[in-house]
Amino acid sequence: MSSDTVFGRIIRKEIPATIVHEDEHCLVIQDINPQAPVHLLVIPKEPIPRISEAQPEHQALLGHLLLTAKQVAQAHNLTQGYRLVINDGPQGGQTVYHLHIHVLGGREMGWPPG
Ligand code: 5GP
Repeated sequence: MSSDTVFGRIIRKEIPATIVHEDEHCLVIQDINPQAPVHLLVIPKEPIPRISEAQPEHQALLGHLLLTAKQVAQAHNLTQGYRLVINDGPQGGQTVYHLHIHVLGGREMGWPPG
């Protein structure tokens, strides 16, 4: 599976990234511009552009992404909690149009988000 975004190129190993987990369905990398001591991105190999374009057929994949986010948070010892974020579209602050879940942790998070 591939896409034309930077995440597609990372999935195809055309450009480097620090990969912390990979399986048949997804990749987890360190964010290049971390906003917290731990900032990971859970990226499906299937290039769904954004969560608002996900379809019923993606139900199992979306569940897998959430469980993977939980797993990598545990692996990074985020025992005090963490935040999962999906930005969608321009008003949601999305910059890369290949669905991904941010895993942010290692500091206290503010609310509301900016
Ligand atoms: P979005 O704004 O779409 O929710 O999140 C995109 C994220 O991808 C940003 O946090 C940004 O720092 C990260 N990012 C953009 N380009 C690259 C890259 O080439 N490598 C990695 N590891 N992260 C990237």
